[in-house]
Amino acid sequence: MNIVTVIGAGLAGSECAWQLAQRGIPVILREMKPEKKTPAHTTEYFAELCCSNSLRSNQLENAVGLLKEELRRLGSLILSCADETAVEAGGALAVDRHGFAALVTDRVKWHPGITLVPGEVTEIPEGEVVIASGPLTSDALAERLQALLGENCDLHFYDAAAPLVSAESVDMERAWFGSRYDKGTADYINCPLDEAEYDAFWQALTTAQEAEVHGFEDGKVFEGCMPVEVMARRGHDTLCYGPLKPRGLKDPRTGREPYAVVQLRKDNAQGSVYNLVGFQTHLRFPEQKRVFSMIPALHDAEFLRYGVMHRNTFLDSPRLLDRYYRLRSEPRISFAGQMTGVEGYVESAASGFLVGVETARRLLGRPPVNFPQETAVGALGLYVSNQAVTHFQPMNINFGIMPPLGYRVKGKRNKNAELSERSLTIIEKLKEEVLP
Ligand code: FAD
Repeated sequence: MNIVTVIGAGLAGSECAWQLAQRGIPVILREMKPEKKTPAHTTEYFAELCCSNSLRSNQLENAVGLLKEELRRLGSLILSCADETAVEAGGALAVDRHGFAALVTDRVKWHPGITLVPGEVTEIPEGEVVIASGPLTSDALAERLQALLGENCDLHFYDAAAPLVSAESVDMERAWFGSRYDKGTADYINCPLDEAEYDAFWQALTTAQEAEVHGFEDGKVFEGCMPVEVMARRGHDTLCYGPLKPRGLKDPRTGREPYAVVQLRKDNAQGSVYNLVGFQTHLRFPEQKRVFSMIPALHDAEFLRYGVMHRNTFLDSPRLLDRYYRLRSEPRISFAGQMTGVEGYVESAASGFLVGVETARRLLGRPPVNFPQETAVGALGLYVSNQAVTHFQPMNINFGIMPPLGYRVKGKRNKNAELSERSLTIIEKLKEEVLP
């Protein structure tokens, strides 16, 4: 029986190893933690979320909501652990960061078909291999990949992570619990700023000292993870239309929407840690403390983790990979996760899922499932391997990479809901074939 070596026990690697093992394919899972950690990982757990604890929308009118539902119905490890460790977050799926990673680690570690081999991988192993070492792949392995793939491996951009504060250090005299338009439970802590407070904060934010990141320019950031100071520099009120948007957030003490609102989202099940929503940053740590403490409710905030920024490496996948994320020039090697150019936690897990399922089928002598483009799981694989894409950029799942309905539907939400329904009908038909 063929053994598959999976490199990296992140979101993609854990999911992939699980799918392979569930189908009876023995897996050697090689992870460099705890011996060596990337600059953004801090724990010994697998599937560590290095920034937000949110897996984004859970609604079917949103493409990432659909992707999650597909994975859920198809037996994804990451989705089942996320659902089991969810914390309240309105229409989104957010998780208890440690609880989630600990659960994934436990399930993977104790799977009888998965053998863990700790330590950094510096050479590409013989045999069937899945490389899922993430956007922060260690230097030694990145060099090996560079040698294997040539210039198609050194594209990069930058990602940033938001700071965390302790709940007890937030001044609740100057903040309130609530959700936008009072929808759902009161999941967020809302920290209001009046016009003068916002102006002072904006001035400080746009002139604060940034940490040095070699080769970093404002243009090389992923729009979905843009540092708050970079966004602020785009205009005085840009943040008021972005992460500090006050719409639908009436301060119960005044009955009015404030000039701007910073939202804090629960980061663990106990509600003892909160993250600053949209505040990914690469300011120097003392500057983060100085500037973010200017938000009135955070004047005495205890920062449990500061925001960080990191280089993020990904492949020029349309030139390299097929729809199963396999290297065209050497099909025994597949890639999974963020390094293939899918962007985001759920997307990374989804690529790991597809690689696990399709590799297992190939090794068992069964035909591929060929998830169609009408499904979010299939659309991602087809986007990443589409040779017609010339300037390849990492992409979150979106309905734009799926075929249109072919008939008119009034309203974007209704149209998206129908696209989701179309996909889930296909998934239901495929389920019997796909599930182990
Ligand atoms: P990872 O989860 O990073 O897993 C890769 C694993 O491989 C790690 O455990 C690592 O230790 C291991 N590894 C690396 N090199 C080796 C080696 N040589 N040998 C053995 N093991 C190795 N996405 C979001 O949806 N929301 C966010 O808020 C978000 N924030 C981000 C912030 C930062 C700073 C970065 C870099 C990315 C962020 N992303 C975010 C993007 C992406 O979703 C995550 O990086 C996600 O974890 C990618 O999953 P992955 O499985 O591809 O890689």
